[in-house]
Amino acid sequence: MSVIVQKFGGTSVADATKINAAAARAIAARKRGHQVVMVVSARGKKTDELVRLAAEITDQPPPREMDMLLATGEQESVALVAMSIRQQGEEAISLTGAQIGIVTDSTHTKARIQEISTQRMRNALDDGTIVIAAGFQGMDPEFNITTFGRGGSDTTATALAAVLKAEVCEIYTDVEGVFTTDPRMVPDARKVDLISYDEMLEMASLGAGVMHARSIEFAKKYRVPLRVRPSFSDGEGTLISLDPKREAPVVTGVAFVKNECRVSLTGIPDRPGVLAQIFAKMSERKIPLDLVVQDISSDGKATVSFTVPEHDLAEALTAAQESINDLGTGQVLQGTNVSKVSVVGRGMRTHTGVAAQMFRSLAENDINIGMITTSEIKISVLVERDRCEDAVRTVHAGFALHQPQASPPAVGANHPDIHPGDHSTSDELERDVVARLAAMEDIVVSEVQLDTSQSRVTIGRLPDESGVASEIFSAVADKGVMVDMIVQNISHEGNAHLSFTVPTEELDDCLSVIKQTLQNFEMAKVSSDRSIAKLSVKGIGLRSHTGVGERMFRTLADAKVNVQMVNTSEIRMSVVVNNNLGPVAHACLLKAFQLS
Ligand code: ASP
Ligand code: MG
Repeated sequence: MSVIVQKFGGTSVADATKINAAAARAIAARKRGHQVVMVVSARGKKTDELVRLAAEITDQPPPREMDMLLATGEQESVALVAMSIRQQGEEAISLTGAQIGIVTDSTHTKARIQEISTQRMRNALDDGTIVIAAGFQGMDPEFNITTFGRGGSDTTATALAAVLKAEVCEIYTDVEGVFTTDPRMVPDARKVDLISYDEMLEMASLGAGVMHARSIEFAKKYRVPLRVRPSFSDGEGTLISLDPKREAPVVTGVAFVKNECRVSLTGIPDRPGVLAQIFAKMSERKIPLDLVVQDISSDGKATVSFTVPEHDLAEALTAAQESINDLGTGQVLQGTNVSKVSVVGRGMRTHTGVAAQMFRSLAENDINIGMITTSEIKISVLVERDRCEDAVRTVHAGFALHQPQASPPAVGANHPDIHPGDHSTSDELERDVVARLAAMEDIVVSEVQLDTSQSRVTIGRLPDESGVASEIFSAVADKGVMVDMIVQNISHEGNAHLSFTVPTEELDDCLSVIKQTLQNFEMAKVSSDRSIAKLSVKGIGLRSHTGVGERMFRTLADAKVNVQMVNTSEIRMSVVVNNNLGPVAHACLLKAFQLS
């Protein structure tokens, strides 16, 4: 019999009426012939309330006691839901995380799941009982109660769905589903019917906020189809699943994080080992770095920049300063008034001109772009914080996301990095790595790709003002050139500096349009490198596990490979290195991530 997992968030079980309604949903699924597991969050604002209460007693609550306290919120709601189901005439049993046997590590308040036993749940399900599992909690090997971090019930739900091989994991919430952007900011944002795990990962980590990012990592690892759906109506919601085979819209959504901070280390030596040292410092403190960007160096000095959430800024700055002290040269800069705006879409892999369109929308509204980075399915920019809302609105409108999205035919299908519709190899590699994991939430690095088919173009001394990136990328897109990795770091003395990669056979065309375009920018200087090697480490959870960057850069440093350019996203970390060193670097990385 097929298993369905249904997760109800705090607002969906806030009072007796809502609890009865949630229970009725589970009963309905049971009557349709499924075995049903419910995962329930604490009621309403219960968790916030408990956090506040603890803060009234101490400003440093011991993490172990915090977990003990917060886990009670869920214990309360599962008991009430179980009573409601019994009252409505079905069998039900409530279980805490520990009673189920969800074993985690001992990192209180952000524990990671190691394993889950299914026996007790299976026995109950086979008896026709509805299982009601407390979300967001487990126990460590010493029987201490642990929690997974705020919003962690989504993670419980996907993890249970994974171990029970559920047909679907339904996430009931107080919105219609996943939207093209935050409807509170853009009222004509639309609900998306279908989105891939990778897109959702990029959206979630970028602050789309519908779901706990870790739960999507879980779902992707174990191929659990997720459906985010409203608890207040019969809406079908949004299905999150493997890259659907059908043609994809070019852009699926616009995500943003309003309160971002930027940290830059500038004037650092351009030699192997420097990035490894910096990443080690950050990972020691478990600071998750986002949007890591390094452009080609000038005068032997490089600049690496990254963004961190506001609450990690102080620590990130301390770590950065330590790095600079150890290196004996360089300077730490910060930008505290920035926001990150990103467009995400799996169709981007096979279409030119997406960056150009995004930059054009920003230019039309006089919004200056501070930093740029891309992955195959995402383009992110940093903008001044007071322009964040304008940026989201104009980019959303520019891609006409308020209308149903058509799926134009793919171009660039000959591009070696692009395999439209064919992700079967990546898929198999990933399954293989997942099958060998020691603990369920371990990092998955499933592929290291070497691409030697691209060239690099760098444009320096551009004016740091709105409209420049738009003009350049529009001209390149008009030529039909497929731009891959775009990197723009912070400007220096009013000059912006931009690099990107293009297929080598398109380099000459690209350079000629750029020369024409640059007639408008007298000072600008173009350089290029016909043969580069791009290496990408791909996997799941690269950003939330802070050690991957460190291992990647340490490995390259040990192999004496200098990193010329870097960009990262939720699903890949890419670097550009000297072409001759590509194969060696590739072999070392495969070995470091145990893929050879
Ligand atoms: N009750 C926890 C929280 O509010 C977990 C959850 O709701 O997913 O963060
Ligand atoms: Mg919650």
